[in-house]
Amino acid sequence: MAIQWFPGHMAKARRQVTEKLKLIDVVIELVDARVPQSSRNPMVDEITAGKPRLIVLNKADMADPVVTEAWLRALKREEVEVVAVDAKHSKGLKQLITGAQKLMKEKHDRMREKGRNPGPIRALIIGIPNVGKSTLINRLAGRNIAITGDRPGVTKRQQWIKMKGGEMELLDTPGILWPKFEDQLVGYRLAATGAIKDEILNLDDIALYTVRELHARYPEQLKERFKLETLPEDGVELLELIGKKRGLISGGYVDFEKASELLLNELRHEKIGRISLETPADHEMA
Ligand code: GDP
Repeated sequence: MAIQWFPGHMAKARRQVTEKLKLIDVVIELVDARVPQSSRNPMVDEITAGKPRLIVLNKADMADPVVTEAWLRALKREEVEVVAVDAKHSKGLKQLITGAQKLMKEKHDRMREKGRNPGPIRALIIGIPNVGKSTLINRLAGRNIAITGDRPGVTKRQQWIKMKGGEMELLDTPGILWPKFEDQLVGYRLAATGAIKDEILNLDDIALYTVRELHARYPEQLKERFKLETLPEDGVELLELIGKKRGLISGGYVDFEKASELLLNELRHEKIGRISLETPADHEMA
């Protein structure tokens, strides 16, 4: 079920994250490598202010590696480390740990100088729904743990999940934040990558947005996948052509809805290749 965010939910989610911040050393902010800006909460800087932060570009296996490199450079700043990870296949987890250790190095060095043992790094994973929080916690723990979000009215004792190597401990309830739906482009990017359910926005609109983006960013991959010699400039025509190529005709016309579903399905299942729908340059960050 899609999570609907209302002002009350937002305030509550924010309160829950703020409470947890008191317990931890490092915030691990998970975003989708294909849409790193759209898949983050715009208030995250403010909510987590003062805590060292590790930004994890997850699902890097599905994103364009060149664009991911650009994001790694663009997002890096003081007190912020950035790593690309494929949690599903346990790739990049070493860099993730190294990133967290870098953030804590000065503090830990000082503790060691005073003869104190810094112990494992305590971390909280936060991110919008579907970005891979549960998957990452399970991979870092090296075992399957039933991850539940915070339920309204249920106060549960926080548990620490020890990581395989002992370098880190994670809070067992990740912080769930909300994406910013007010911006339509953000909605389309999240819908295209499957982060939000199709019911929230019109399916045809999502597919049209997607086909136009693919045309602009990955024309060769689009041609190859759908065996197209040329790409019509117009998005509607392009989507119709794709439908026609796949025989999605009913009553003599291309079934636009079926063509829309097909395109989105193929994108989400990596049939069109590794695709990023957002670059630092789009946000004037490059
Ligand atoms: P959560 O809502 O943030 O806890 O997200 P989940 O951990 O439930 O993941 C949502 C979906 O994304 C699941 O189908 C995962 O298998 C998938 N997923 C998570 N991480 C990755 C990744 O790095 N690569 C790929 N390809 N899929 C991933």
